[in-house]
Order: sequence, then structure tokens, then C-alpha cells
Amino acid sequence: MRVLEIRRVSKSYGNVRALREVDLTVHAGEMVAIVGPSGSGKSTLLQIAGTLDRPTSGTVRVAGHDVNALSDNELSALRARYIGFVFQQFHLAPELSALDNVADGLLYSGLPRRRRRERARTALQRVRLADRLEHRPHQLSGGQMQRVAVARAVAGQPPLLLADEPTGNLDTEASAEVLSVFRALNAAGVTIVLITHDVDVAAACPRRVWVRDGRITPS
Ligand code: ADP
Repeated sequence: MRVLEIRRVSKSYGNVRALREVDLTVHAGEMVAIVGPSGSGKSTLLQIAGTLDRPTSGTVRVAGHDVNALSDNELSALRARYIGFVFQQFHLAPELSALDNVADGLLYSGLPRRRRRERARTALQRVRLADRLEHRPHQLSGGQMQRVAVARAVAGQPPLLLADEPTGNLDTEASAEVLSVFRALNAAGVTIVLITHDVDVAAACPRRVWVRDGRITPS
């Protein structure tokens, strides 16, 4: 199944052409690294893949749904159901426990609080933080904070996880920790597309896509 299908997508910001007729298909179960120099269009590509931004031209399908055909509300619903996001900054609420940070990510799921907390607990187990549920962000290491952010991204069990430089703020050991969690999630069936500058992270991904000057280039 095609989780993501990007066809002839271009994106311009004024006269900056950030993406030029990009084609990218990602099948269920893949783990793909997007690599390329700074300013080459990687983040723009991930934003458009994640339906956070719309292309200037071309089509984007997520789990078969044509994004162009959807209203902003429909798009939010699609995103909530199909896509989890992880960023370089962890974006955790400092006053909340790990459990509540993850459970709050499910506020719009319509689930009652008890179910949200159950799901959050399961997600934190999946990122191997079952023993840190009540810790607040400042009581956690960088790698652990990012794993909380990953748990929040997968708590709603989206089939697709998109990550923009998820190890960009982490030292080598913490990067390896987060990478290992990504690999375990992928082995459990989550499709992952991540942007990385880290050669170890890129090397650990079965597929690499190179972006340069707004185009996907042959590797
Ligand atoms: P990368 O993630 O590879 O560093 P980006 O996708 O962030 O690249 O940027 C690609 C190009 O688009 C760059 O020239 C950047 O300056 C430009 N760009 C990205 N976002 C915007 C924006 N919101 N407004 C104007 N220009 C942008």
C-alpha cells in the first residue's frame, strides 16, 4: 500500500523555488531518510508530505486521499488519523509529566481521559520509558525527552511517522537511543520518513532519498 504519494510537486515562496516537480512514493513499512544540504528543500518536502503546507502545484496523497480535494478541516482530521510528527525541538510542556505530555497529544481524539492515559502509557512503553511516566521534562535526558515526543507522535497509532532532524539536538549516545526506538517502531509496522544530517542515522535507514536544489536526485 502507498502511504505517501507525491507527484510533480512544486513549491515556491515568492520567487524562491523550494521544490521543483518532485516525485516520491513511500510504501507501507518503509523507513526512509531524506538527506541533502541545508536549504535544499527537505523541510518543505516533509511539511508538504505531512499536509502542514500545500504545494504550489502537483498532487499529494496520504493513504490514498488526495490532499488537494480536502478542506482545511478535513485535512486536520486526515493528519490526526494518519500522521505523527517529531521535530528537532522536543516541544514538551515543562510542567507536565511524561505521561500527561503524551496523553495531551490525544486531546482531539475524542477519547475519555482514562483511555488517553492508557494509550499514553502504552506509547511510553513502546519507546522504553515505562519507568519514567511521572518524570517531568527537566528530570529527563535529551534522548529521553525526544522519546517522549516520539511516544506522543505514535500514541494515536498513525501509520506514518514524519520526523525533521529528530536527532539534531542529541549527542551520539542519545541519537543511537532514538534511532533504536525508530527502528523498533518500524519493525512493528510504522512507516517512517525522517530528515537527517547524521550519517549514522541515514546509514541505518534501508532507503535514502537525496534532495538537492529542490529536486530529488539519484543517489
Ligand atoms: P532544508 O530543510 O533542506 O534546509 P528548506 O525546505 O527549509 O530546506 O528550504 C528550501 C528553500 O526554501 C530555502 O531556500 C529556504 O530559504 C526557502 N524557504 C523555506 N521555507 C520558506 C518560507 N516559509 N518562506 C520563504 N522561503 C522559505
